[in-house]
Amino acid sequence: MPSPDDQPQRAILHVDMDAFYAAVEQRDDPQLRGLPVIVGGTGRRGVVATASYEARRFGVGSAMPTAQARERCPDGIFLPPRMARYAEVSAQIFCIFREFSPEVEGLSLDEAFIDVSASRKLLGTPMAMAQALKEKIRQRCQLACTVGVASNKLLAKLASGLGKPDGIRQITADQASAVIAVLPIQQLWTVGERTAERLQAAGIHRIGDLQQASATTLHRLLGPRGESLRRLALGLDERPVVVDREEKSIGAEETFERDLSSLDQALTMLMRLTEKAAARLRASDHLAAVVQLKLRKPPFVTQTRQRQLKPPLADTALLYACARELLETWWAAQRRPALRLLGVSFELVGAQTQQADLFGAKPTSLSLEDQINARFGQGGLVHARGLPAKFGPKG
Ligand SMILES: [Mg+2]
Repeated sequence: MPSPDDQPQRAILHVDMDAFYAAVEQRDDPQLRGLPVIVGGTGRRGVVATASYEARRFGVGSAMPTAQARERCPDGIFLPPRMARYAEVSAQIFCIFREFSPEVEGLSLDEAFIDVSASRKLLGTPMAMAQALKEKIRQRCQLACTVGVASNKLLAKLASGLGKPDGIRQITADQASAVIAVLPIQQLWTVGERTAERLQAAGIHRIGDLQQASATTLHRLLGPRGESLRRLALGLDERPVVVDREEKSIGAEETFERDLSSLDQALTMLMRLTEKAAARLRASDHLAAVVQLKLRKPPFVTQTRQRQLKPPLADTALLYACARELLETWWAAQRRPALRLLGVSFELVGAQTQQADLFGAKPTSLSLEDQINARFGQGGLVHARGLPAKFGPKG
């Protein structure tokens, strides 16, 4: 008779790419390898999105103002993010994740939980899967990641944090409370800044302090939440891996430091945004069924304009033509047209791959344009409309 103790534990992987944006830049441009690369906003109010490990040695980290990063690392290479490119690489790594289990919950472009419990019979131990997954990502994408292995999401995520960079770290159920006892309470899921302050004021600084705290103390500090926090501190977490719902729309938008007041400027910006969003659309293997513009005029009036596409499509030039018509019509109807923000988004419809299956062959989902941009970097091929006026077509 199997006792409850024989219940097989769940096996959860938490995969986190190492310094993702910076690593993609260093992979795409070999001259950047080994150098401190800092990807983020380069404008006045920019912040760092990702710093390569070389840059982290100078004390540069994510969410730091770019100005401060420049002070700490004057020889750093500062690059604006190429989101369309990262989204494309993200789609590739998520395909690899799904080779280990369909139960994939994405947390961001470069991070996911994978419930591999049911894959053990076929693919071996969770550690073996973690190793194979790392290897596939290295071979196919030339990128490094860290994998945390545990019986729940909480521990798997803490494990990958401990294994960074380029590592695999397992936390077994019997080690759990000892291993995580030394970590600061902020690392515990649901502990935000305010909860941390309240706990620290009561002398609770590490997860171990939380484990020791009495139920009464925790209840006094946090109310009914206290008990659930104590369970988390012991490494207990029942949350299931929630498979991603299909994305419903993809878009790009930009807020301008100075309002756009000429139609020509607005069309140039529209082309750039359309290119960015359309590349993500194709990388996600979808077609656009609706094009929507988001238009904010000063001081703060936001309007939308949209049009259905029949049939749905993914071609940048056609998407731009439709978006352009919407923008020109809106522009002509304004008394004093000006834009503080412009956005373009696409409502998605059935995957291209599903259509392709009907014909028995899967065509490459990337257009020639995307393949060129993938090879030479975003901007390798851009529509002339998206170039600054002096390069662009007249009229
Ligand atoms: Mg990461």
